[in-house]
Amino acid sequence: MTNGASAQPNGPAQPPSTAESGQLSGEGTTHQFHDSVQPARHLQPRDTPDPDAPPIRVVGLRKSFGEHEVLRGIDLTVERGEVVCVIGPSGSGKSTLLRSVNLLERPTAGRVFIEGIDVLDPDVNLDFVRTRIGMVFQQFNLFPHMTALRNTTIAQEKVLRRSAQEAARIGREMLERVGLSDKIDAHPSQLSGGQQQRVAIARSLAMNPDMMLFDEPTSALDPELVGEVLQSMRDLATSGMTMMVVTHEMGFAREVGSRLIFLDEGVVVEQGDPREVLAQPQHPRTQLFLSKVL
Ligand code: ADP
Ligand code: MG
Repeated sequence: MTNGASAQPNGPAQPPSTAESGQLSGEGTTHQFHDSVQPARHLQPRDTPDPDAPPIRVVGLRKSFGEHEVLRGIDLTVERGEVVCVIGPSGSGKSTLLRSVNLLERPTAGRVFIEGIDVLDPDVNLDFVRTRIGMVFQQFNLFPHMTALRNTTIAQEKVLRRSAQEAARIGREMLERVGLSDKIDAHPSQLSGGQQQRVAIARSLAMNPDMMLFDEPTSALDPELVGEVLQSMRDLATSGMTMMVVTHEMGFAREVGSRLIFLDEGVVVEQGDPREVLAQPQHPRTQLFLSKVL
């Protein structure tokens, strides 16, 4: 049930340095959120995930960059096992929403709860909470000089402190899960974009996250490679993983999504059963958007 916690009951004994963890999570830049984390603390009760709480709960979330308010009051709950798809025009705040849930952006106002943990509580160990959330980006961010297997093991060893043997066992298992058993020794340059993205998914799964966030995971791919990545995501959804997926793949949203959210100008304009929203959007802005993309 609590994969991240069972791997490290007391959180990372020595949280990785900012640069290292930034790299490993696929983010090259540092961010103020991480800098506030204090090293080498044991879990407080406030860090303990509540198994009955929804994996993700966002209340009144606002985010501004300077004068520009990008998220303008988002209320959102993702229940265990739900696959919530998020669509909306470019610049509507989709990535900022995911990055706020993934603790890469600090909200200007509002609250974010991950499995009941208030992540804005200054006493919460964010490094621990982060281990519970997997994220896959449009750009795969694999290490080019490492094999597929090594890409899946390095964070397990450095962040979760797993032995090399254990990390390799889990890495192989996850690469098999995304259909890449025959590519474990390949370097990213020897893999197609679809295969690279599947390695990125395997890398994320190897950390035993309790939920997975995807930010346009197929947008950088040639059209013929989109299907294999969506298939891995579909398998993951079938396995019961809680997922939030920003995507332009309306077919995926229709077939796999348990809910579809339409975001525009930083607000949730409409949400509901994907089949219903796509077939009969209620709000004029949703209708206009869908008329352009469907
Ligand atoms: P989407 O993913 O829906 O295309 P984003 O969340 O990436 O939208 O961005 C929403 C708005 O916020 C855009 O206008 C973007 O330029 C702006 N924005 C995003 N990140 C930053 C940042 N770090 N600094 C300043 N503006 C940003
Ligand atoms: Mg985006």
